[in-house]
Amino acid sequence: APEKQTLGFQAEVKQLLQLMIHSLYSNKEIFLRELISNASDAADKLRFEAINNGALFENDPDLKIKVSFDKEKRTITISDNGIGMSRDDAIEHLGTIAKSGTKEFFSKLSGDQQKDAALIGQFGVGFYSGFIVADRITVESRRAGLPANEGVRWESTGAGDFTVEAIDKPNRGTDITLHLREGEDDFLSSWKIKSIIRKYSDHISLPIVMQKEEWDEEKKDTVVKDELETVNQASALWARSKNDITPEQYVEFYKHVSHDFGEPLIYTHNRVEGRSEYTQLLYIPAKAPFDLWDRNKRGGIKLYVKRVFIMDDAEQLMPVYLRFVKGVIDSADLPLNVSREILQESRDVKVIREGSTKRVLGMLEELANSDEQEQKDKYATFWTEFGQVLKEGIGEDHTNKERIAKLLRFASTQNDSDVQNVSFADYVGRMKEGQDNIYYVTAETYAAAKNSPHLEIFRKKGIEVLLLTDRVDEWMLSFLENFDGKELTSVAKGDLDLGKLEDETEKKQHQETEEQYKDLIEKMKTSLADKAKDVRITFRLTDSPACLVAEEHELSANLVRMLKAAGQ
Ligand code: ADP
Ligand code: MG
Repeated sequence: APEKQTLGFQAEVKQLLQLMIHSLYSNKEIFLRELISNASDAADKLRFEAINNGALFENDPDLKIKVSFDKEKRTITISDNGIGMSRDDAIEHLGTIAKSGTKEFFSKLSGDQQKDAALIGQFGVGFYSGFIVADRITVESRRAGLPANEGVRWESTGAGDFTVEAIDKPNRGTDITLHLREGEDDFLSSWKIKSIIRKYSDHISLPIVMQKEEWDEEKKDTVVKDELETVNQASALWARSKNDITPEQYVEFYKHVSHDFGEPLIYTHNRVEGRSEYTQLLYIPAKAPFDLWDRNKRGGIKLYVKRVFIMDDAEQLMPVYLRFVKGVIDSADLPLNVSREILQESRDVKVIREGSTKRVLGMLEELANSDEQEQKDKYATFWTEFGQVLKEGIGEDHTNKERIAKLLRFASTQNDSDVQNVSFADYVGRMKEGQDNIYYVTAETYAAAKNSPHLEIFRKKGIEVLLLTDRVDEWMLSFLENFDGKELTSVAKGDLDLGKLEDETEKKQHQETEEQYKDLIEKMKTSLADKAKDVRITFRLTDSPACLVAEEHELSANLVRMLKAAGQ
């Protein structure tokens, strides 16, 4: 429809706009980073589509981003010659939020502005951040490949609705014009804009250009020249030498690829040569995303082939249990027209995945094994945020199972809290003389585990027991029989044999007791015949009169409960 249409924002957009304008005001300059980031994404998308359809370049192959401003009109404009948007694209992308995890995010909002402000940084605000400094935004765009008269003008004051109308737009791509709010005139300065670009967007691989300004001695003022200058370094960050990249640049690049506002926990940057040649720049976030448990989520690795963007979320490049890792992998070997299907089969991809997995585990080991408090704290943060996901690796990654096992952390009877900070190695180091097994108990909650009657005998003997209460624990344990040659043994299973930990007198006493109560046990067995498989005398309880145990090779009571809860 060519006429002007007025459409309402999705309810979440309205909420987001409100929240954002108030909570991000003190950090308002980030709008420029967000809009430049979108322009860069748009260029990546064009390059990718053009691999199979060169005509999309329309004789304008030099991709760039231009930032300009108009002091009289009080506007800033960010222009790109990337993929552009059709009318339908504009309605969909600039009227709704498509991000995964959106529902979870909005359900977490409390209405308390301070708390919500902390959340919004995690969510990422993107295009709408323009409304922090603008009371009206005009977007003019045309999608690559569409005729000039199929351009679109989108406009909104950010209040609740927006308009779209058809325009002629000879140049492919998108121009976003911010009509600044009262009092935001600081941004109408070439110096100010350049410094923001250098601070937040230097890593963008496209040139970001501005009109050159020069001091005019006669006019005693700066004059705008008819000449463009490039403000950023304009080379892909991951392709630069490590020595030429500052920590701040690594952090800004993380924000760009992850859509996270926070800083990463740790990162690794390497060029790998050999059988397969590729560059990896991988980050572990400091906070778990809202959609960590979303099964359809694909992961956060962007794939490039010789600097050309190929795809987001290339899940084949990282195992599922490392789906929280963000970053870029740039391969020198893969063909440009590689598809998700080809990735699945590719030998090169397998080599990259294995190499990247090793890198990530190496990075975690460095934190976990460090003597420095700061690094240790980082590992504790990592474990709190992503430990449960890493546990999936025990079942998923046979090759690295032992490395992953060393990275696991548990709550334990050694401590008086539910904090998971005991490693298998810590446990083994504290094992009693004559103890051969690593003992654990599984339960639905920490309180249930800690108060389990099965622990009584262990307390009495001063033997440590690991308290396992995460949902994935039972599943994980089915893939992990031992650590360092010590069998992992449930305190709740079968006929608990404390072996050498029992002394001779105890053994003798036990035999006598069994003899003494033989008749009673037989009677109980008969009367409980249809309810219990067996009735035994136990020596593992000290305070409780009786407890239920699972047969050696049966599902534990806790796993049965979980399977039932999952509807199986
Ligand atoms: P995100 O970048 O995380 O997807 P944004 O809010 O920043 O979220 O942008 C929303 C969407 O709007 C983008 O995914 C894209 O489809 C579209 N968009 C925004 N800016 C541009 C642009 N300059 N060119 C083409 N599409 C754009
Ligand atoms: Mg964006």
